[in-house]
Amino acid sequence: MSVNYAAGLSPYADKGVCGLPESFDSPEELKAKVETLAQLIKESQYLVVHSGAGISTSAGIPDFRGPKGVWTLEEKGESPHFETTFEDARPSLTHMALLGLQRAGYLKYLISQNVDGLHVRSGFPRDKISELHGNMFVEECEKCGRQYVREKVISVMGLKPTGRYCEVVRSRGLRACRGKLISTILDWEDALPDRDLNRADDASRKADLALTLGTSMQIKPSGDLPLLTKRKGGKVVIVNLQPTKHDKHAHLRINGYVDEVMKPLMELLGVEIPKWEGPTVCESSTDLSESTTDIKPPRSNIPAKQKVKREDIKEERKREATEAETIKEETVSIKRERADSSQETSADK
Ligand SMILES: [Zn+2]
Repeated sequence: MSVNYAAGLSPYADKGVCGLPESFDSPEELKAKVETLAQLIKESQYLVVHSGAGISTSAGIPDFRGPKGVWTLEEKGESPHFETTFEDARPSLTHMALLGLQRAGYLKYLISQNVDGLHVRSGFPRDKISELHGNMFVEECEKCGRQYVREKVISVMGLKPTGRYCEVVRSRGLRACRGKLISTILDWEDALPDRDLNRADDASRKADLALTLGTSMQIKPSGDLPLLTKRKGGKVVIVNLQPTKHDKHAHLRINGYVDEVMKPLMELLGVEIPKWEGPTVCESSTDLSESTTDIKPPRSNIPAKQKVKREDIKEERKREATEAETIKEETVSIKRERADSSQETSADK
């Protein structure tokens, strides 16, 4: 591959729990659970999907904490095996199924921790997705925030300058912005992208169903977003082979390969999985005209960075000791929130 994503990040001591054993539901169990999931999706008003590295393993891109994951192997002093390059990787069945669900109106918003660019290359509308840890194919203008989706991976990471400059034409077409373009890939200590995080946060609060696919949800704040849905009274469904950090919050927990869940799920919903016909970039869900690369989305006036950081997992571990306490508090705060919102409603009236 052109750029080894993991090797391009700074050294970081604690990468969370790696290499936990995978477990599989029996075929009967899986079938029953997928039926329940289909029902939940049909009944939902606002479905949000959270995707992690587990949805790209069938595309030949290793995950991080699975038995053959990048960090799992690193702990053993071994290197990961890449079956493809980012440029050559094809969206998996799950990537395409999510596109189908979006087009069918079931899936309202997609939140991804993946940097492989496969959601965007599958044609998933960019105004309906937050890529919280960046995208290997996207560079962004430091000055005006415009993003450029490229055909090849950006050769630098960690929000560093790519050596290219912004071509946005400013003030009556007289001169170009010429801001420095930077990589959108976060390093460990980098702040999450403001616009993507805000949208993800809004969608998670609006959602009545959060479906997580192929993520152990160990990285904050991305991994905690499904809990916002639960706090607002929604349901969380988790599909992952390994245990996840939030299994105890799940309404339904499916132990199976994501592709083997999505395929029967789409049949039950009667939604066709679109065929992939090569890298496609779709900027907006309302824009039917799709083009292939170097799309220039509307300029954003939101600053590129925000001060929310991926918290140190060590710190998180310390806090886990008091988690039982937190859950109690959460329950109290949910009640309080509900009480508040009913007050607001009556005040509005
Ligand atoms: Zn610019």
